[in-house]
Amino acid sequence: AQKADKNIIQKVMNEAYEKFKNDSRGKNADYIPYLAKVDSNLYGIAIVTPDGKVYELGDSKFEFGIESISKVFVLCLALESNTPEEIAQKVGVNATGFPFNSVTSIELQGKRAVNPLVNAGAMATNSLVKVQNGNSKWKTINDYFNRLAAREIKVIDELYHSEAETNQHNQAIAILLQSYNTIYDDPIMTCDLYTRQCSFGTSAKDLAIMAATLANNGVNPVTKDKIINPQNVTKTLAVMTTSGLYEDSGQWLYDIGLPAKSGVGGGIIAVAPGKMGICVFSPRVDQAGNSVKAIETIKYIAEKLQLNIFNPM
Ligand code: GLN
Repeated sequence: AQKADKNIIQKVMNEAYEKFKNDSRGKNADYIPYLAKVDSNLYGIAIVTPDGKVYELGDSKFEFGIESISKVFVLCLALESNTPEEIAQKVGVNATGFPFNSVTSIELQGKRAVNPLVNAGAMATNSLVKVQNGNSKWKTINDYFNRLAAREIKVIDELYHSEAETNQHNQAIAILLQSYNTIYDDPIMTCDLYTRQCSFGTSAKDLAIMAATLANNGVNPVTKDKIINPQNVTKTLAVMTTSGLYEDSGQWLYDIGLPAKSGVGGGIIAVAPGKMGICVFSPRVDQAGNSVKAIETIKYIAEKLQLNIFNPM
């Protein structure tokens, strides 16, 4: 049975790739200059199962900006030193229904960030990370990401500079939170750390391993490293389910039924608990900032492999 399962995963992946490789809807995000220059035709798929097997296709090793997908794992890190109740109270865990960089949602939804997967909430969450082993906060974050990806992850310097020069809106959000006492470290420093975490260069393979760590109850299936406390996995998956694709999170859940997270770099991760972590990368994004090809690909794979969490079979 194991062998048949493996063949099916590879087969479904191949089918999806053939079906969507020429889909050219959407366009690269261009509000960050670096992202506009990435080859729009790149397309990579990776799936990792709890037994540590890695399935890959296309540009699965190309390193792209992790962007908002980083928010998921900084939430996991913040949950190491803050209880789930503290995150709910200090950041919030409700869907915003607004774009990822919305100021309106802060004003209308409690004068705080609303949830950890929008920019405001990602910065508030980052501000709650406690340094470990006397390291800097940045090293604490980088070390944690290295363990999750099972290799050394580095910032793409050109992307970081491109974002840092154009992140005034995010700085304004951080200061707005400061005015309401809902950011918990220096706001400009926190915005800079957030900008750096978004500039990590990760491949679809790296992110599928990270997603599979969530699917595998917090244990990295490749290294067997116990990284995320199972209780925190559950909380993180809940936030991904309501808020992983910004204002299109409801539509995504209705169509696909998996906890997920997108980034404007063109990556989307999806987690099928107990079954697999998936990452698809392709730079052309839609109005909400979600990769068009990645949505279509994961939808196809989730249907064929019957991964929808609301399907009781
Ligand atoms: N770094 C990007 C920003 O802050 C991330 C946004 C995203 O991926 N949606 O705008």
